[in-house]
Amino acid sequence: MGRKLYICGMAQKVWYQCPGCGYKCEAYEGKGFFGQRISQVVCMDCRTVQNLTVGGVIADVVPSFQTEYGRLCPQCMSQDLRLWDGHTCPKCSGNMVKNDDYHEFWT
Ligand SMILES: [Zn+2]
Ligand SMILES: [Zn+2]
Repeated sequence: MGRKLYICGMAQKVWYQCPGCGYKCEAYEGKGFFGQRISQVVCMDCRTVQNLTVGGVIADVVPSFQTEYGRLCPQCMSQDLRLWDGHTCPKCSGNMVKNDDYHEFWT
């Protein structure tokens, strides 16, 4: 029972929250409007989960967008990024919980 609404070809935003320390991050599921996808990475310097846009038409213009490799943390410009495993809290290593009751569409 929910207000869930799926629109084909769009990504949806979901929230993850850590019950241990309260850290919250957003993630995107599905493909973007221009064929890009969003990868979640953990920055080892500022210990946050960051969303990186990978692929799609942007990658045709900016080749570095084709991969997660060599990208910078959007927050602190660190290069020390790891792919996020989808559940480990970067602050306290707790298990983050997905909150998918909240959907917001983006294009
Ligand atoms: Zn935590
Ligand atoms: Zn960072």
